[in-house]
Amino acid sequence: MIQEPGLQLDERQRAMLEAMHIKVWQPPARSVAVTASPPASPTDALKPIAIDAYSTRSETTKDFVKPSKTIPVAAGQHTTQPATKGLMQRLDGIDQMDWAQLEAAVAGCRACTLCESRKNTVFGVGQMPAGPGLAPQVDWMIVGEAPGENEDLRGEPFVGQAGKLLDNMLRAIGLDRHHNVYIANVLKCRPPANRNPEPHEVAQCAPYLQRQIELLQPKVILAMGRFAIQSLLQTTEPVGKLRGRTHQYHGVPVIATYHPAYLLRNLPDKAKAWADLCLAMDVMRQSVKS
Ligand code: URA
Repeated sequence: MIQEPGLQLDERQRAMLEAMHIKVWQPPARSVAVTASPPASPTDALKPIAIDAYSTRSETTKDFVKPSKTIPVAAGQHTTQPATKGLMQRLDGIDQMDWAQLEAAVAGCRACTLCESRKNTVFGVGQMPAGPGLAPQVDWMIVGEAPGENEDLRGEPFVGQAGKLLDNMLRAIGLDRHHNVYIANVLKCRPPANRNPEPHEVAQCAPYLQRQIELLQPKVILAMGRFAIQSLLQTTEPVGKLRGRTHQYHGVPVIATYHPAYLLRNLPDKAKAWADLCLAMDVMRQSVKS
């Protein structure tokens, strides 16, 4: 049975939902509860947090990642540098970069060991930038976790099976990965054999996502999967506890939802993911009105 009070779906969207085996579901009474304590400063916002079992990555690895050490770089300033040859300190001034500079900085990044096994960096995909150095003008941003094998080969996020489901989900709400949305990951390089990202890898990559969000200024961020959600919101709460309400990342509304890879293995939860998309659409409508 499809229930959709308050929700306008056209034929195409209905067909798409059917293809996704999604029954339209009325989101619970909207509680737009803002996360109690957003990170104190932009630099705090994406600090690594302990993340346990990482359910959206299908493989594990025995690869060993050498530990980082903290080295002083200037009076009163410290940065982390992995203790591995061939690695270089991340560029300074990421928070001042324009879109093109940021993309180039990611492409050349050798700040953690992931650069040694990657085929390509995966900066993101979306609407074309509005002009040289300018960020794409999008209302929607999707944040995923890290590139997998296909993404590493193509240099584009979400191009495997999970990506196909994400494309269907986006299409159901009138979005297309090349228009009106930007898709990026927390990590820009693939963890070998799809193992879980290490906290020091997140720490090295965090300023890139942070700057992407600052430049894009989306009206809503859909954070997919525990890893993306917990990194953005600096929490260890599970996805199930965080979805269904609106959080904030430096003034940008964040909706937490399941990762498409998880949904491929847990079909009944697609209905909840649809409810999350509906909530995100509501947030978008509110922001357009105000
Ligand atoms: N999973 C993600 O989180 N991101 C990708 O780009 C691919 C799979």
